[in-house]
Amino acid sequence: MEYKRSSALFAEASKVIPGGVNSPVRAFKGVGGTPIFIKEAKGAYLYDEDGNQYIDYINSWGPMILGHAFDPVVNAVIERAKKGTSFGTPTELETKIAELAVSMVPNIDKIRFVNSGTEACMSAIRLARGYTGKDKIIKFSGCYHGHSDSFLIAAGSGLSTFGVPNSPGVTQGTAQDTLLANYNDIENVRQLFEANKDEIAAVIIEPVAGNMGCIPPREGFLQALRTVCSENGALLIFDEVMTGFRLSKGGAQELFDIKADIVCFGKVIGGGLPVGAFAAREEIMNFLAPLGPVYQAGTLSGNPLAMAAGYEMLKRLNEDEEVFNRLEEKTLYLENGIREVIANNNVSFTINRVGSMISVHFDKNHVYDFETAKNGDNDQFKAFFHGLLNEGVYIAPSAYETWFITDALTYDDLDKTIRAIDKVTANMK
Ligand code: PMP
Repeated sequence: MEYKRSSALFAEASKVIPGGVNSPVRAFKGVGGTPIFIKEAKGAYLYDEDGNQYIDYINSWGPMILGHAFDPVVNAVIERAKKGTSFGTPTELETKIAELAVSMVPNIDKIRFVNSGTEACMSAIRLARGYTGKDKIIKFSGCYHGHSDSFLIAAGSGLSTFGVPNSPGVTQGTAQDTLLANYNDIENVRQLFEANKDEIAAVIIEPVAGNMGCIPPREGFLQALRTVCSENGALLIFDEVMTGFRLSKGGAQELFDIKADIVCFGKVIGGGLPVGAFAAREEIMNFLAPLGPVYQAGTLSGNPLAMAAGYEMLKRLNEDEEVFNRLEEKTLYLENGIREVIANNNVSFTINRVGSMISVHFDKNHVYDFETAKNGDNDQFKAFFHGLLNEGVYIAPSAYETWFITDALTYDDLDKTIRAIDKVTANMK
């Protein structure tokens, strides 16, 4: 494939945008080569500026559950835009989408909309601190909760790709209030609670980790976490930016039957427009301004275009009883196909999957936390990534990311993908 125009656009972008991108992982640093500039997308496909077509497994990092440029979402945005794009006042649409989200997700009474997953998680821990009167939080190594200061500590995702464990600009004062635990290690969490008695406001977790590849919670781990939080008066925050409205209608809480105290959502809830949200029981949410003392705000929060897109998206996920089963079946089909061809090609690998989140690590051992995720062979991943790209299959440009499956994928697309993986891994021995 030719990437002439993408290369030229990247050179131009690099003069006026740091690294040529507005979010680091897009720069292909972890895999090398030129980032591809996308011109348009429809359904399961991306089209780049050089006219190449790709089957898309990034799906805007999650939200395109029903495919790109999904007509009901596009039409809702067009119609809404004709009536004005932002007012900075309440609108009826905000209540409609809030009612819908509250009806779909277990254990929440109220929800507040923000503009990104970062804002959602940042606001959630402020709320947890305000509600509990405690300062410290526990996060898990390899989990990513956006780029606000408290979370840029062993944060997985783009930061893992670059090998930056921490970020300059995050003060020691902030870092010392974030305690790190190993994913899937409940003893480690217990020890932290023991060593920081009555100081921990919340534990925040990706209930299925998606930022160190896909890592499922071990059987009983989330339940034990729930118990430890309750015993210690700490809130359990589920960061469902990836899992929310994807793993099931009610997200990971519903899938694993665990009650979180605060739930964070991201891009899915805006149908691909810039949205995030956080939600909880009434007694917790009422701590927020203007009702309560915890301040949180946003000029564009609840923006009408984003709310219109999100409402159409959630409505369909709510009404179509079969969508989550279809996603599961398609992803299982892909998983089985990939397992077979990579095994036949004698390449060491591990596949992790929960519902429509899946990833391939190039290591034969079980991957269950950040340390084991780091054992993957990055040179093999690079070869895999570029090989697939050349075959018209676009996976995330980092070994630490999850693939997101969209309902727009046909079985023909999945077969093409499996054939491409066969061809590429045959050359990787
Ligand atoms: N939490 C999780 C689990 C995420 O995966 C991400 C981003 N992929 C975020 C938070 C941050 O969301 P955003 O990029 O919208 O700020």
